[in-house]
Amino acid sequence: MELLKSLYEINSKSGYEAEIKNFVLGQLADVALSVEEDSFGNIFITKGVAGSYSCVSAHLDEVHAPVEKSLVVDGDMIYAVDVAGERTGIGADDKNGLWIIIRLLHDKPLLKVALFVQEERDGEMAGCRGSKACSLGFFNDVRYILAVDRKGDSEVVTVGKGDIRLCNDDMFPLDVLQKYGYECVPGGRTDVVALKERGLPAPCCNISCGYYNAHKPDEYSKFSHLEKALAFVGELLEKIV
Ligand SMILES: [Zn+2]
Repeated sequence: MELLKSLYEINSKSGYEAEIKNFVLGQLADVALSVEEDSFGNIFITKGVAGSYSCVSAHLDEVHAPVEKSLVVDGDMIYAVDVAGERTGIGADDKNGLWIIIRLLHDKPLLKVALFVQEERDGEMAGCRGSKACSLGFFNDVRYILAVDRKGDSEVVTVGKGDIRLCNDDMFPLDVLQKYGYECVPGGRTDVVALKERGLPAPCCNISCGYYNAHKPDEYSKFSHLEKALAFVGELLEKIV
């Protein structure tokens, strides 16, 4: 849980992702990786050498402005309060995705990872700015993308906002879905939806990673749900070829 708390302690409001980027890459300093940053600030990581890769994605930014806050761990639940004792957001959307990716890059011998900046809508600016601006070339040898940027602990979004089909539901082995209590559902907009709109051929989806009340002051995470998401994604990476 210490790694997760460290991520929550860093503010990464959209457009100000430098600190969280350095932290994430610092956590991976002992892993042999190829890391590229594009001119927009998105990060693309490759671990191992293969003809093709599975890929996991998350976004580096959060909606919340920086405030002085203290993290509270109450059993399985993690949230934050400000100096007045009022609840304040932690950016679990999508630092939970970053936590999963740091763990996977330590464990898996072969993996590609995309970390997008500026996913969140910001005032008049539309969301998914990083994923709209990036080159799609990194994904040419990617078989599929599992985004970890969905609330809750039981959903695999396979149809994005605007009726964008991300993948066929039968891509996911039923026994693995049932083992972890996940099901395929339609959902909202995130980076993989933007990539799909731009013509990405690879199937993709967006997986629940244990955060709740995203974008709100009473945002919180359930650590056991985050750990379950890591195990689920880890098993999908083994089973989906
Ligand atoms: Zn998100």
